Amino acid sequence: MTDVRKPLVAGNWKMNGSIALLNEFSGYFADKREFDCERVICPPSVFISTANTLMKPLGFAVAGQDVSALDEGAHTGDLSATMMAEAGCQYTIVGHSERRTDHNESNQLIADKAKALLAAGVIPISCVGEPLEVREQGQEQAFVADQLSALFSTVDLNELAQVVIAYEPIWAIGTGVTASPEQAQDMHAFIRSAIAAISADAAARIRLLYGGSVKPSNAEELFSQTDIDGGLIGGASLKPEDFAAICQAA
Ligand code: PGA
Repeated sequence: MTDVRKPLVAGNWKMNGSIALLNEFSGYFADKREFDCERVICPPSVFISTANTLMKPLGFAVAGQDVSALDEGAHTGDLSATMMAEAGCQYTIVGHSERRTDHNESNQLIADKAKALLAAGVIPISCVGEPLEVREQGQEQAFVADQLSALFSTVDLNELAQVVIAYEPIWAIGTGVTASPEQAQDMHAFIRSAIAAISADAAARIRLLYGGSVKPSNAEELFSQTDIDGGLIGGASLKPEDFAAICQAA
């Protein structure tokens, strides 16, 4: 991490949590405001409004977990980037591996979602990461470069630095197996160098998060790597004391 980039820790609740859990979080964090990082909570979209009411006054930003790339219209169940902005989301995740798998999302669709968010004034947290078999073949950098190429060609160059990229190796998500700090740093350095090839300024400013079985016990070592600017946290973001410890580490 550097002074240029403010560390960020985002808790991705996935399809978990409840209003009761948001109340537990707001109670827990009520007297804990001394954090150096930006803290983001990504609840299921039906709880965004409650999260805004309870968590924003405590210094948290609120984020969606996905968005449509389309503006409006007959798309039952979908939410537009403008709606995310109007609902008070400062960030929204796109391209999480669970959405890539469950909903067959392509790299281009994910890039279009990121572009729609930027147009609406919402910062995309755009996820990339390879499956285990790709890493076993030593092809992880080529795989991630391919995932990123649509993003780089779709988002305006002057907006690229605003995007947050989360590297989440699929074999580390929800498995308890974390990438080693060296494996994570290597990939983050690779991503930053790929951005530097487009814009040195964007590469210096863009925030790169690591995600995949981050817990209080491994967060500090991961976050202390040169090119890791924080984390995208799944399971451990559902317990206020674990999330607080991870935020403390950033
Ligand atoms: P995990 O999930 O921390 O439970 O591994 C991370 C994520 O999927 O964002």
